[in-house]
Amino acid sequence: MSRETLHPVPEAYAEQSLLNEADYFELYRRSIDDSEGFWREQGRRLDWIKPYTQVKDVSFAKDDLHIRWYADGTLNVSSNCLDRHLVEHGDSTAILWVGDEPGISREISYRELHADVCRLANGLKSLGVRKGDVVTIYMPMIPEAAVAMLACARIGAVHSVVFAGFSPEALAGRMDDGKSRIAITANAGKRGGKSVVLKENVDRAVALCRETSVDKVVVVNYTDDEVPWNPARDCDYGELVAQQNDDCEAEEMSAEDPLFILYTSGSTGKPKGVLHTSGGYLTYASLTHEYVFDYRRGERYWCAADIGWVTGHSYIIYGPLANGATTVMYEGVPNYPDVTRVAQIIDEHKIEILYIAPTAIRALMAEGDRPTAGASLESLRLLGTVGEPINPEAWNWYHRSFGRGHCPIVDTWWQTETGGAMLTPLPGATALKPGSATRPFFGVRPALVDNGGNILEGAAEGNLVLLDSWPGQMRTVFGDHQRFIDTYFSTFEGMYFTGDGARRDADGYYWITGRVDDVLNVSGHRMGTAELESALVAHEAVAEAAVVGFPHEIKGQGIYIYVTLNSDREPSEEMRRALRDWLRSEIGPIATPDVIQWAPGLPKTRSGKIMRRILRKIAADECDQLGDISTLADPSVVQQLIDGRVALA
Ligand code: ATP
Ligand code: MG
Repeated sequence: MSRETLHPVPEAYAEQSLLNEADYFELYRRSIDDSEGFWREQGRRLDWIKPYTQVKDVSFAKDDLHIRWYADGTLNVSSNCLDRHLVEHGDSTAILWVGDEPGISREISYRELHADVCRLANGLKSLGVRKGDVVTIYMPMIPEAAVAMLACARIGAVHSVVFAGFSPEALAGRMDDGKSRIAITANAGKRGGKSVVLKENVDRAVALCRETSVDKVVVVNYTDDEVPWNPARDCDYGELVAQQNDDCEAEEMSAEDPLFILYTSGSTGKPKGVLHTSGGYLTYASLTHEYVFDYRRGERYWCAADIGWVTGHSYIIYGPLANGATTVMYEGVPNYPDVTRVAQIIDEHKIEILYIAPTAIRALMAEGDRPTAGASLESLRLLGTVGEPINPEAWNWYHRSFGRGHCPIVDTWWQTETGGAMLTPLPGATALKPGSATRPFFGVRPALVDNGGNILEGAAEGNLVLLDSWPGQMRTVFGDHQRFIDTYFSTFEGMYFTGDGARRDADGYYWITGRVDDVLNVSGHRMGTAELESALVAHEAVAEAAVVGFPHEIKGQGIYIYVTLNSDREPSEEMRRALRDWLRSEIGPIATPDVIQWAPGLPKTRSGKIMRRILRKIAADECDQLGDISTLADPSVVQQLIDGRVALA
């Protein structure tokens, strides 16, 4: 790539960070050569009730698939996130909560959080919740959401957090799937200045459930909104916890007992109920949080995800709290009341580390310099991103605006399934290339294979697989183990298939090229979506773009492009020609698009990822076969695009 620039490790990092480049290579080597020994040692970062003697018990063979870590050890995840910090750090801030409206925030110490969790844990027990029960959490981004997750972990209940933006239908589907009989919610939430209906959605979801009967709904009365109340079923959170003791003995859990179920984003099909267990997951979340963010106690660390996504689980709650960190929990959205909000929060609370998704970065980037104009951002020392490939253009903007040119960016590639970051730079150890997730984390063995499953060596492009297990790996698709085997272990024998494509350059850096299902094959040339989209976003008129293939008589597949222009630009035939020429010059004549459709918006999951499978159907004129669209953020976008296509034809 011509635009590729190398950002060496800043000097301040090389001297002060946990690891430098040589340390990384040495530790990485050890983590692979002596995987058992490496993970035996790393497991000790947790407090175990009964220490493990077994470490790794894994086979990726399709007919003997099993994944077990630390299997004979016992522990409690909530004690690891709370109790063990109390003696020395009880008064330090565990959660720094920042409200939707500017000026509203709250700091909760580890001691307070511990007491809150114990009270709710006792409350849940009093409602009859037992070890192994599935508890649905459908909550706004308020501290009680964190308390609910940890209270479940404390008594061995399995939480299933459902993003509070999902519809009653989507919620009911997940409650049914988990056979969940209890939900924790709030009467309403606040997001971007608007009230979000929650309790009413739960009521409707409960009525829709077919596979389970929900007999308890615990409600945080968070706003002034009045909601219908069913005294036989509904239970006021405040009243429930008021009567409880602030100490609750933590349940002794086996390392392989389930901790939570979480559904994937649904970018590629019906969401999968990913099951994570206790010991391995927490070891991995804690280890990655410490090294990827080069985290030092006392620092204020802000992961701007929602707890409804795995990023919120591993990097707002479990990883940071296991490490005794101060984790920022933000209730709102990045552009409320205006686009300077993120920068204002950073300045107001002197935040050191910021971790957000490319979709948010691109949205802010469309506003030029405004999001950070006038801000100091002096406290920031590290930036991170996760969720999609970050276009180099967006990377550079993020680096320049929020990073003031000196903060490294950790571009972390991982999945709901992996529990924690897998490919990622380490701040003091890795020189950066915008758009690359760089190298594997400790214990991670990535490989690229061709479609026949042959491992490709050196600089190459292919299907991204993982050759060995890591403790944070998912254990099954809840209630559908066959789907687990089929999805991840049947495509390439003896390997975990990620579903993503990647390129490895001569320095051993990985570049995610997009979903394998999305790869274009134009006259025999394979092209990832990421490279084409990045080139488009690099054009000064383009805000966002999505590229898909469509059936083409001569080329096999043609290139179909959906483009959202910056707000000050107008679609025109000249613009079409300009973009066509731009792609030809940036990538080559093979990348000449066949169709360019103007898109006022793109179909995205609620977590902000582009759903190309829907765009592919529209391009192929198969609008009646859109598949599962329950996780779409804004379904009306789809109709606009269908109409736009008709206008094109
Ligand atoms: P589903 O599995 O239901 O289709 P999903 O894959 O979008 O949904 P997630 O687990 O939230 O669900 O997303 C993981 C995917 O996100 C990865 O497989 C990858 O495609 C993409 N991704 C995440 N982080 C990065 C990154 N840093 N660079 C490139 N792609 C990323
Ligand atoms: Mg996926």
